Amino acid sequence: MTEGYCVRCKKKVEIKDAKKTKTKKGKDYMKGKCSTPGCPTTVCTFKVD
Ligand SMILES: [Zn+2]
Repeated sequence: MTEGYCVRCKKKVEIKDAKKTKTKKGKDYMKGKCSTPGCPTTVCTFKVD
């Protein structure tokens, strides 16, 4: 399970459909949607498994 901080829920949430992405500087990160029902916020984390 991938976790990230949701700024809308103001807590750590599970990242739904997390995908590995890279920043412009080449750093890996995971990006997806908040798993809270009804929350459309994009959540990302630099903790890559
Ligand atoms: Zn959320």
